[in-house]
Amino acid sequence: MGSELRFLGEATTKCMNCGELSFKVSMYVYRAPIVGDVLLECGRCDSCGFGRSNVSVLNYGNPKTIRVRIESVNDLRAIVVKSATASLSIPELGIEVTPGPAAYGYITTVEGILERVLDVIPSDCMNDEECYKKVDKIKDAMDGREKFTLIIRDPSGGSTVIGEGLNIVVEEDATY
Ligand SMILES: [Zn+2]
Repeated sequence: MGSELRFLGEATTKCMNCGELSFKVSMYVYRAPIVGDVLLECGRCDSCGFGRSNVSVLNYGNPKTIRVRIESVNDLRAIVVKSATASLSIPELGIEVTPGPAAYGYITTVEGILERVLDVIPSDCMNDEECYKKVDKIKDAMDGREKFTLIIRDPSGGSTVIGEGLNIVVEEDATY
């Protein structure tokens, strides 16, 4: 499957940073390998320069919770479409990421999510035994030596995880 980018249109909305009616969003449909059609939204404010982008799968609708059991190096390569509204957690590794108002969406792999978590761990972590142990565990997980469950809660329903032979459970969630 090839990849292509199709321009859908542009909209101007109120900027969530400065409140001016000058936030321009360009929308595209991107046909991604493996994932299929995704909606890309790239926005920037003409007044204050605030930028935000999002990615979500097309044809979604309901809030959902995705639970993926990661037990092998192959599972680590599963593709994750994480929309801007999704929160991530990995209970076994003590990871909990909730989206702020300026959160953005992205496409990565399960391993890529662990990399992002490592990226934001403060540099003085090495002086803290608990933090150090956590980093060690995450690195083990990235090498496939630690099994864990990735949980994605998405009130917009625009997130998904795609991979071969994945142990995945998707619940449509009525609690939002
Ligand atoms: Zn602005």
